Formats: sequence, C-alpha cells, structure tokens
Amino acid sequence: MRKLLILIAVATVATVVGTQYGWRYALAPLLGIAIWSWATATMRSFLNHGQTGVAAVSEIEVLEPEDRTMFWCEECGTEVLLLVRGSGIPPRHCATRMHERAEIIT
Ligand SMILES: [Zn+2]
Repeated sequence: MRKLLILIAVATVATVVGTQYGWRYALAPLLGIAIWSWATATMRSFLNHGQTGVAAVSEIEVLEPEDRTMFWCEECGTEVLLLVRGSGIPPRHCATRMHERAEIIT
C-alpha cells in the first residue's frame, strides 16, 4: 500500500514537471532512481553470494591424516599434497591436468 502511494505521488509530480518543463526533466530523475536501485540491488546480491560461499566452505571435505593424496605433474615432476578437497577436479600445472595418486599410510 505504501509503495502504491509513493508511486502515485511520483507519477503526479512527474506529470506536472513533464508538462510544465519538458519530459526530460521528469524522466531523468526516474531513470536515475531506477539505475541507483539496480546498482544497490546488484551489490546486495554480491554480498548474499559471499554468505552462500561461506556456507559452502563448511561442506568441504577435510582429509584424514591416514589418507595421503598427491597430485603430480608429468611435465616437470612437481608434486602437490592435498590437505582439503574442495572439488573433484585435479589442479593444473604446466598447462595440463595433474595426476592423482592416493596412498594409505598405516
Ligand atoms: Zn608442471
């Protein structure tokens, strides 16, 4: 109800300003308000997305010390020890996917 009253008031003022001084003086502030609303809503969605990302971090699998997963690069021989598994996609090195090697330490 409140938004409807604001919309009626804005339409009335815009009509009066538009007929008296020209429609560009009525439409320019409305366009500015629309752009400002869009920009603030976009920034707010970025903040909400960040909170979603934090929630997703809690779902990351922390490996047990007995499981030792290594990735190695067949081009240069670099080895990487995996401590926290974020996704199932192996990392890249020397522009190729690294190979996974899992070891169980007893
Ligand atoms: Zn490499």
